[in-house]
Amino acid sequence: MTQIANELSFSQKLNENPKSVVERDAILANPGFGDYFTDHTAVVDFKVDANGEGGWQNARIEPYGPILMDPAAAVLHYGQEIFEGMKAYRHADGSIWTFRADANAARLNASARRLALPELPVETFLESLRQLVSVDQDWVPSKDGDALYLRPFMIATEAFLGVRPAREVSYRVIASPAGNYFGGELKPVSIWLTTTFARAGEGGTGEAKCGGNYAASLAAQMEAEANGCKQVLFLDPNNDNAVEELGGMNIFFVFKDGTLVTPALNGHILHGITRSSVMQLAADRGLKVQERKITIDEWREGVAAGEITEVFACGTAAVITPIGELKTAEGTIASPANGIGEVTNAIREQLVGIQTGVVEDLHGWLTRLA
Ligand SMILES: *Cc1c(COP(=O)(O)O)cnc(C)c1O
Repeated sequence: MTQIANELSFSQKLNENPKSVVERDAILANPGFGDYFTDHTAVVDFKVDANGEGGWQNARIEPYGPILMDPAAAVLHYGQEIFEGMKAYRHADGSIWTFRADANAARLNASARRLALPELPVETFLESLRQLVSVDQDWVPSKDGDALYLRPFMIATEAFLGVRPAREVSYRVIASPAGNYFGGELKPVSIWLTTTFARAGEGGTGEAKCGGNYAASLAAQMEAEANGCKQVLFLDPNNDNAVEELGGMNIFFVFKDGTLVTPALNGHILHGITRSSVMQLAADRGLKVQERKITIDEWREGVAAGEITEVFACGTAAVITPIGELKTAEGTIASPANGIGEVTNAIREQLVGIQTGVVEDLHGWLTRLA
């Protein structure tokens, strides 16, 4: 599908009924995660014209609200959808920044290619964030550790039940004030190892950030909850017992000598931007970082022998979360650290520090939004 190159500027239709300051302040005092949304949304439409040329058009900021969509819209039937997740952080001087947005833009387009959706020009992606955060800047929390979670997504809106890539697509961004993902203090979470379900496989969509992967993870998530765990760990279904990732977070192991190990990207692990940042910050500290295969057996034996001293998960929403015990159908692998481990904590503080503007951004990871 060829795309018409176009310079898009966003029109603005402001919400005539925004939430009151009192209501907004009450939400910001206790935002939780993903429960409340700001007053506006950014939208850009994509259409293929009669000559078969596709182009993005009608970029706009409009009031947040329900999407009017044909019941035959392809996304509702075949799940042609992708998304991103990032945060806007308020710095001490009031300015608002986001973290590695160029990487999110690139990943959105990688996901688009996999789901046969049109790529969005990087500049339009960045402008959609700037525009939305500018109109909704009062929604960016200033409380320590809180941020405005940004959710760009793309859906196939064409009303058509035949199976082919949709010729009408909509890109949108919504925003939601976010507190601590796991609610409060950083205590290790218990993880359930599913051997019933896989989230991804060779040639599948595991590397794309698409809703379908999350739908496919829910049954495993229920299994985890039934076993008293908050999160589920998936194995590589093609590679017996090799650890892959959680439903929405990548995983790291810290060894006694300070080496960090994370599963190598194998074509069906999501390329986490937090993952890549953790690897960079660990290397900056002089720690050895290995991307390689790590199995459940190595995990079990490593913890038992005191070789593995910390395990943590990472992703934009929860940043870095210590992993405690791993429960499996065949028994439990004990938590290596009591509370948050030293290396986990040091990298977390540095990462959050860069994001919130209190630690110098040596890698040029921040982009100013407002
Ligand atoms: C989004 C996501 C992650 C984390 O990626 P970040 O860029 O660090 O937020 C990890 N795994 C899956 C499956 C994801 O969807």
